[in-house]
Amino acid sequence: MLDDLNRRLAAVQRLDAPAGAVYGASGRGRSMRLAGVPGNLFSCPVCGGRFRRFLPFGLDGRRNARCPGCGSLERHRFLWLWLRDEYRLLQRRARVLHVAPEPCVRDALAANPGLRYVSVDMFDPAADRAADLTALPFPSGEFHTAICSHVLEHVTDDRAAMAELYRVLAPGGRVVVMVPIDMKRAGTFEDPAIDTAAGRNAAFGHPYHVRICGADYPDRLREAGFLVDPVSSDMLSPHRRRLWRINKTVLFDCRKPAGGAPKENGPA
Ligand SMILES: [Zn+2]
Repeated sequence: MLDDLNRRLAAVQRLDAPAGAVYGASGRGRSMRLAGVPGNLFSCPVCGGRFRRFLPFGLDGRRNARCPGCGSLERHRFLWLWLRDEYRLLQRRARVLHVAPEPCVRDALAANPGLRYVSVDMFDPAADRAADLTALPFPSGEFHTAICSHVLEHVTDDRAAMAELYRVLAPGGRVVVMVPIDMKRAGTFEDPAIDTAAGRNAAFGHPYHVRICGADYPDRLREAGFLVDPVSSDMLSPHRRRLWRINKTVLFDCRKPAGGAPKENGPA
């Protein structure tokens, strides 16, 4: 799989291949059943599997990253634990919007009878709706919960995407947002003039990322009107982080104020 990813990324950098060619082939939208390595050293909270090791993942071949049972990565497992144990989503009756659905999380949520689950993606034919995050085809206040993980770093007008997430949430609704963040960088770095895959790869570290998010990124969510609570994976004990193979990461629990009027124009 690593060779395959490397080949695809090399092709992208040479040819500026359409994003769908990469995302569609990267596993998003497909449930994967990978060869398991049974054991008891690590466990996956998403699928409940126990394994002697996880699979490597990423261009650097990061070891013990991908669950052999459900394909979850470290960030998916943290997201899932927060949704299940902190937000207690499975005990709610809620309308849920899942943007660019990770198959492991989608499968775990869509089967839950208390949730009315809808997924959207621009490229993934397995999503319920093909939609642009900056122009969602839903009425205002439609959802109680939204999940938007590792998407905004791909969206040029991420403020428009945040405004749409705010609009489609009911007052008091929550969206959980994850983006790759370089916490050593105080300010988010972006440059719209860098608009080729090769240029973005050089500047932002990925051919389809349009920025490097810095420590100020949650302020952008606040400017969209959300009350933002950063949640670090440090909340888990070191033992549990080792058991579940969860690295240091953060998610943003973003709440639309109850009774607050939708912010139509954003910040001044
Ligand atoms: Zn798993």
